[in-house]
Amino acid sequence: LNRRLAAFGTTIFAEMSALAVATGSINLGQGFPDTDGPEEIREAAVRALRDGRGNQYPPGPGVPELRTAIAAHQQRRYGLSYDPDTEVLVTAGATEAIAASLLALVEPGDEVVALEPYYDSYAASIAMAGGTRVPVTLRPQDGSFRLDLDELRAAVTDRTRLLLVNTPHNPTGTVLTRAELAAIAELAVERDLLVVTDEVYEHLVFDGAGHVPLATFPGMRERTVSIGSAGKTFSFTGWKVGWVTAAPELVSAVRSAKQFLTYVASGPFQYAVAEALALPDSYFEEFRRSMLARRDILAEGLTAAGFEVFRPAGTYFVTTDIRPLGEKDGFAFCRALPERAGVVAIPNAVFYDDREAGAPFVRFAFCKREEVLREAAERLRAM
Ligand code: PMP
Ligand code: GLN
Repeated sequence: LNRRLAAFGTTIFAEMSALAVATGSINLGQGFPDTDGPEEIREAAVRALRDGRGNQYPPGPGVPELRTAIAAHQQRRYGLSYDPDTEVLVTAGATEAIAASLLALVEPGDEVVALEPYYDSYAASIAMAGGTRVPVTLRPQDGSFRLDLDELRAAVTDRTRLLLVNTPHNPTGTVLTRAELAAIAELAVERDLLVVTDEVYEHLVFDGAGHVPLATFPGMRERTVSIGSAGKTFSFTGWKVGWVTAAPELVSAVRSAKQFLTYVASGPFQYAVAEALALPDSYFEEFRRSMLARRDILAEGLTAAGFEVFRPAGTYFVTTDIRPLGEKDGFAFCRALPERAGVVAIPNAVFYDDREAGAPFVRFAFCKREEVLREAAERLRAM
């Protein structure tokens, strides 16, 4: 293994899901729903397979039906208009969108400023691109993890090429406020930076006004690569359909990298996701409401079990502090948890360069059936 990747080992999600299977534990580690997405959308995939749509290589940028549906969704939800032919690219999940964006836009030696804790593929993708990551740490403040805008400004140097943003934020559940987003946008414009923004949890915002894409701020549309995923929004994480929307030069750059990573993926599923994006608003609202109910069940259960809970404003993850339980090392805690309680969780330290800063935090996923969440909470309380 080369030096760029050697530091990364096996992704924590594979490690912890294997542990869940081996110990028969409830898996609140890796973020995948235990209920598949809408029946009618699964039927749409079956129809595509049967009718021979997408069984051979789809077009490089994605099938036209899906690109049109992605553009229509951005327009309908956010008033953002993208040309399906030149400003939309379908990818093999958001994971490939992130990797291809960084590979296409970062020169070796460029600095990439990313929020910490960061989704684990960010660090590996920055490294594969030869970039240097510069983390800006979100810190606990009145019950949620907040961005210090002065620290963000101070992190930008003459070598900074791009800001890598994620809102709603995995693993903290933080949703950046309109004021925070406006400040990020101003900084990007002032320092002439590109922005890659991972908004895969755009439909899972529980409190306040809802999701505000960074691309909607003044001066941002032309410098922002926005990333979405059907895995999160429609509960089909195995389909690996993601997308990028951006200005033509940026989409074209990302596509240059993407063509040599997978070229294309998920043919028949692309047609099904096109139908999913056109579902009525009631689907998205019902999905959000069902996850909100689950958030509350898990947050209350974890509080009753003695954790300090950072109630998430978005995503399907709850970050907790284990120190009230007399624990301080999230890694040790998560490795022992299957034995102790029959539950699997993720140590947030894996999402930090500053492992010390992340040590006491542990993440639980709540994209599971309510009875599963209640059972997990009961096991943790009895631990
Ligand atoms: N970004 C974030 C913040 C995520 O949490 C995930 C997956 N959980 C991804 C990207 C990857 O999405 P996909 O499965 O579409 O590759
Ligand atoms: N993004 C999911 C999570 O945060 C996991 C995806 C993966 O396994 N790569 O749990």
